[in-house]
Amino acid sequence: MASQEKSQSAPLSAAGELAIRSLIERAPLASSLAAAFKAEGQTLALVGGSVRDAILGRLSNDLDFTTSARPEVTKKILNSWADHVWDTGIAFGTVAGKKDETTVEVTTYRSDVYSSDTRKPEVQYGDTITGDLLRRDFTVNAMALELTSAAPEFIDPFNGLADLAAKILRTPNTAENSFSDDPLRMMRAARFASQLQFAISSDVLTAMKAMADRISIVSAERVRDEIIKMLMSNSPRVGLTILVETGIAALVLPELPKLQLEIDEHHHHKDVYEHTLTVLEQAIGLEARLGGPNLINRLAALLHDIGKPKTRALIEGGGVSFHHHEIVGARMATARLKALRFDGETIEAVATLVALHLRFHGYGDGEWTDSAVRRYVRDSGELLEHLHVLTRADCTTRNKRKAEHLSHVYDTLEARIGVLMEAEELAKIRPDLDGQQVMELLNLKPSREVGQALDFLMELRLERGQIGEAAATEELMAWWRARSDS
Ligand code: ATP
Ligand code: MG
Repeated sequence: MASQEKSQSAPLSAAGELAIRSLIERAPLASSLAAAFKAEGQTLALVGGSVRDAILGRLSNDLDFTTSARPEVTKKILNSWADHVWDTGIAFGTVAGKKDETTVEVTTYRSDVYSSDTRKPEVQYGDTITGDLLRRDFTVNAMALELTSAAPEFIDPFNGLADLAAKILRTPNTAENSFSDDPLRMMRAARFASQLQFAISSDVLTAMKAMADRISIVSAERVRDEIIKMLMSNSPRVGLTILVETGIAALVLPELPKLQLEIDEHHHHKDVYEHTLTVLEQAIGLEARLGGPNLINRLAALLHDIGKPKTRALIEGGGVSFHHHEIVGARMATARLKALRFDGETIEAVATLVALHLRFHGYGDGEWTDSAVRRYVRDSGELLEHLHVLTRADCTTRNKRKAEHLSHVYDTLEARIGVLMEAEELAKIRPDLDGQQVMELLNLKPSREVGQALDFLMELRLERGQIGEAAATEELMAWWRARSDS
């Protein structure tokens, strides 16, 4: 059966060739690893995301392999091949190694049986690569390139290559079976839709909607990791929309779908949900300022308005208000990120940004005093640049003139911050010796002469920069002698 399922028709082998060519860049590594497995009578195949990415021409430095070897044998082989080996995943059949710049993960063929009500798969090893591929999440992740056969062999039993070309996510098994084996795969579908910009097949979407509540048996850590990967992709809007539309977000990130019914503070009946997705995209667009893709920036943008539903109040005579939604939102963001087991540093940074995201609204057309500007800088601390990005991204008005005006006003705030910081840097400049040291060295009581000595030292500091206490002492003594001589 396996040989029938190994698709070998002409267009498929062309893709196989592409994958092989992609691998050739790493050929010495891949082929020496394959030789090591072959010498032990075992198979080795590049598999999963690595094959997918090789065909897409975006193979990374992490290579995933599958093998007939049992984990202890894999470990022995890797020990003699890699620079470092770690076996933290050995209970799940995975041994990892690093050689030069490449990290490899080698996993024994699996044919998992997941029990439907526990979080962890019960690992069962399999004997065929087809069985291993069948248990993978999507057909585009269920292709392999066997390296221990006479010639490299492209194995694609579920037509993953055709789905890759059509940019569609399908499951090898029925979607229902696949998701009851591991409900996290529903989130992986949304994540890959974001990362690869692939569509999700309608049977998969139907199963996601029907089985959304099964996500609650998955551990928070696994859910968190998928949320991070989705948010850090080029198009998080795609995956977030899928999670909301299938009802999965209502369980893992309920604050997001709850934004849908809200209207914004300008009473424009523009919903806060759509505003939020746009702010996220705009915040991503400004990330060059943060040195590239930035999780804290993306989480803060996603969560900045989640306090609105709870604080919404109707104003007499029309309109709505959201008093203190930034404070309520910061608290809600903390609770959600904690529940998702984010680390403390990330949680604190995101909560700070959510709490501060409205502060600029009090700036008007520049009415802040210098001390208000200083407080803005002090309260945001190391997150000042993040706050600049979030605040600028938070403007989604379609009114061009209004948007330009706000952006210009923010420019003036940044310019004022720049001027103040520079002045404060100057104020921080001190001579290399202080008054106490001057009095001891010159044997003086507090007097006008001490002030003159400090003025001299300040001049010296500005003229020559920091020269250290010893050199400053020498200069001070020379100045004092010259002064006494005259
Ligand atoms: P990336 O490394 O960019 O996150 P990937 O496709 O390599 O993407 P991994 O999570 O590293 O994803 O998993 C490697 C491979 O293992 C996948 O391509 C897929 O074949 C399989 N896989 C991973 N997680 C699951 C899962 N929950 N259910 C089924 N198969 C999975
Ligand atoms: Mg991977």
